[in-house]
Amino acid sequence: MDRREFLVLPAASLAGSLFGATDPVPWQRTIRRIGQLNMTEHDPVELDVEQWADYWKSLKVDAVLVSVTGILAFYQTKVPFHRKGKYLGSRDFFGDCCSAAKKRGMHVIARMSPDLNWADALAAHPEWFQRDPQGQPLTQPDDPRLYRTCMFTSYMTDYMPAIMREVNSLYDIDGLFTNAWPPLGRMPVCSCEQCRRLPAAGSIDYWGKFNERTVDLWKLYDSIAKEKKKENFYFANLGGGIGSTANLVQLGELCEWFQCDNQGRGGDETPIWGCAMQGRVCNAVQNGKMATNVTAAWSTGSPVRWRNIAKSEAEDRIWLDETLASGMVPYHHIVSGETGIGEDHRLLDPVRRYFEWTAKHDAHFTTKRSVANIGVVMGQRTHLFYKPPRGATMAEHMNGLYLALVEGRFFFDFVHEEKLDAGNLRKYSALVLPNIALLSDAQCRQLREFAGRGGSLLATFETSLYDERNRKRADFGLAELFGIQKAGEIEGTNGNAFSCRIERDHPILDGFRDTHLIAGAEHRVPVKPVDRPILTVVPGFPAYPPELAYPNPSHSDEPAIVVRENGKSRLAYFPGDIERTMWRSGHTDLDRLLRNALRWVAGEDAPVSVEGQGIVEAFAWETQAGFAVHLLNYTNPGMHRGWLREFFPIGQQRVRMKLPSSVRVKRVELLRAERDAPFRVDQGAITFTVPAVEDYEVAAIHV
Ligand SMILES: [Zn+2]
Repeated sequence: MDRREFLVLPAASLAGSLFGATDPVPWQRTIRRIGQLNMTEHDPVELDVEQWADYWKSLKVDAVLVSVTGILAFYQTKVPFHRKGKYLGSRDFFGDCCSAAKKRGMHVIARMSPDLNWADALAAHPEWFQRDPQGQPLTQPDDPRLYRTCMFTSYMTDYMPAIMREVNSLYDIDGLFTNAWPPLGRMPVCSCEQCRRLPAAGSIDYWGKFNERTVDLWKLYDSIAKEKKKENFYFANLGGGIGSTANLVQLGELCEWFQCDNQGRGGDETPIWGCAMQGRVCNAVQNGKMATNVTAAWSTGSPVRWRNIAKSEAEDRIWLDETLASGMVPYHHIVSGETGIGEDHRLLDPVRRYFEWTAKHDAHFTTKRSVANIGVVMGQRTHLFYKPPRGATMAEHMNGLYLALVEGRFFFDFVHEEKLDAGNLRKYSALVLPNIALLSDAQCRQLREFAGRGGSLLATFETSLYDERNRKRADFGLAELFGIQKAGEIEGTNGNAFSCRIERDHPILDGFRDTHLIAGAEHRVPVKPVDRPILTVVPGFPAYPPELAYPNPSHSDEPAIVVRENGKSRLAYFPGDIERTMWRSGHTDLDRLLRNALRWVAGEDAPVSVEGQGIVEAFAWETQAGFAVHLLNYTNPGMHRGWLREFFPIGQQRVRMKLPSSVRVKRVELLRAERDAPFRVDQGAITFTVPAVEDYEVAAIHV
């Protein structure tokens, strides 16, 4: 595989590539900033519409979302059961906001929430609502006066279209948006009359029906949006990362605007990269179309939130930084306009300064495609349906791997398991399969073909042990490729986890000194012995009492890693849940093993490298203006648990990036520091130094 191929492929995105050369670029693909004040029932008598519109204009946003309905109408609707808010009176609040935004040249998206309605609707249309197994309607926990509607009923095909068409008929809007549908986080569990006819909730067959319904409704609403004008479109609230409910590849085909409702962290144990990780998910499925991450300036988190109070400015800023670095469009979200535009102006001014800064550099944030040599297979089916050993989660696998990738400063993309075709994999020298348990025979074949073309693979634990319907295979689907054979069921840990005995030298063991033993994982799939193993399993034993804490036996021929080389293709399989155990235990042996293994499979010829101190998540992009290298500084005590209180700047970062021979670099501009960096171009690569990074730096390479 030509490791420079990443630069000579045709640009697979943005303006033009998905359309004929003469077609204009749809407006939504030129959006660079978005704003939303989520309106409350009280806002018709509180919000100052002119001040609201001026604020968004001052942020240079290209579009605002304006509430049509959550549970309450913000205009004089005639649709039955579309209840008007008690402060609306005779006012056309939506219309006033829509006109004020349009007068200032901003696009207006009509925002709806189809998830809840009131008791009068329940009485007249009992068939619209979700039911528990006893047939009782399901209520909203925060306010039990509200009942949860069911997406499989005519609520979605009669009631919602009636509102959409009424809004189309009254207002100069540019698109329709639904909040709270499709459901985020988990699929509905409903026993209404419609749902009783569906396969069991949570099953793969149910998922099939759920996806069918989602696609059908999406197409219906999009066709209604286009009844207004052909440039209009429909989109919905998404996000949810890899474990998103609806099939992401199907949505990627439909979705003009991938709206990620991933608004921020609280004080819970959530790693800092939540937004950047979401951006990678979008890049894997959006085929270069627009994605945005909704960043809440208000206080996100659990167990409590403050919708009208600002979160820490540093936490808000890193989320916006991650949005841009991962190729998404920043979206500023606030709730409620009491006393004009809210009483806490910390929600307003910092983001205005931030957006003014991004607006100066739009060409550098308009990405064409990522520069990366590693593809991490996402495994949406595995995240939704695989049952890990007790106490384990798939999120732990992804976070462990993510940490190793960040600490190792690798340049990687996510790749959806339904997009393993040769064209989509061309740019990668290696693929990583972090316990991607569910893989179809066809997907296993695509992975074998990738290796056959010289690609390398790193897999862990139960990867390929299940088919796409979550049926367990007798042996790994990728057994032949990795040269492995399953020798038994999963072994867990009772006290002291297994250890690995070093049998011989290998680059994956670089840096281990003065020991014959290193840490193993919490769980492993026993595999049969292989020739010349480099690490073998020393079985676990009790941790307490200490008298029993010794290896017995102290040696086995069961491999703890299996490696192979076929020409350029390097293959490494860890039978342990190594990335997950590393995440849970923090063990540095596992971290080193993972990073060494990633480096070994990726090969020496990385397209970009960034060297220096600190924990940095890095992205590189081909942009409208040339290229850009983004550095996010995660060196912070708030890295694993929100919020950031302040930033801790890091020093010099030395960047080296390969460039196509046809490229002439004019300047390297550090967008955050607002100064140029001296650079050198030598042997097809540019090198320069970023002197310091506070929270974020973008080295924009003008060509
Ligand atoms: Zn139902």
